[in-house]
Amino acid sequence: MGIHSQDLVFSYKQDPSFSIAVPNWQVQSGDRVLLTGPSGSGKTTLLSIIAGLAKPESGGVTVGGHSVSGSGNTDQWRADHMGIVFQLFNLIEYLSVLDNIALPLALSKTRQARALQQGATSVAVAHQWCDQLGIAPGLRTQCVGRLSVGQRQRVAIARALIGEPAIILADEPTSALDLANTERFMDTLWSACHAAYQPTVVFVSHDAGLHRYFDHTTTINAGVLGGYGVA
Ligand code: ADP
Ligand code: MG
Repeated sequence: MGIHSQDLVFSYKQDPSFSIAVPNWQVQSGDRVLLTGPSGSGKTTLLSIIAGLAKPESGGVTVGGHSVSGSGNTDQWRADHMGIVFQLFNLIEYLSVLDNIALPLALSKTRQARALQQGATSVAVAHQWCDQLGIAPGLRTQCVGRLSVGQRQRVAIARALIGEPAIILADEPTSALDLANTERFMDTLWSACHAAYQPTVVFVSHDAGLHRYFDHTTTINAGVLGGYGVA
């Protein structure tokens, strides 16, 4: 699925001094795009609009031709088609590694059906993702509250990718990591995408140095986009 933003205007009622204006931005299906800009430039806001969590004043965003910026509820569509990696991973501390990874399948029949082509049960598919991402068998039934940062990263990636959603959105998942862990995160993320699964990825970071991990870079400054896909 591609992402197309057209004549988009957004501002927060509480903070009219900031606004986002995107005349035309197009991300092709399967692209891996780094969205970078300084703190406060609007990266998280734009990602929220793409996710259908923040609604623009005018114009809009379509994802795979589906309008996510209309007034309707987009929760189920998001659950079906988007995997999201958050800055602090937002794992559910009292659930096990396997239950955290399988959670999106409980929220989406679409993702569950796709996952069940790969294994007999949701838990079996969660095990497969653990195998692929190097999450040791002994950890899988433990609560995530006991995991190290490196282990949490892997769980967050598996949870975003299970059921193979067409869109992956990531909001600064590497900002709290040192260089070695950042490299490990990026390598793990891309190793989880394989020949038959090439999601469209919009990855937000204030660190423009991450560009070497991406096909394309779009910049944002004070709500104004530049670079890849901007017409
Ligand atoms: P970034 O992710 O690039 O750091 P944000 O999208 O979080 O930037 O924020 C862009 C601007 O919008 C900032 O000026 C911020 O203070 C403001 N802002 C962010 N979230 C809200 C909100 N919920 N209400 C009002 N203003 C907000
Ligand atoms: Mg942000």
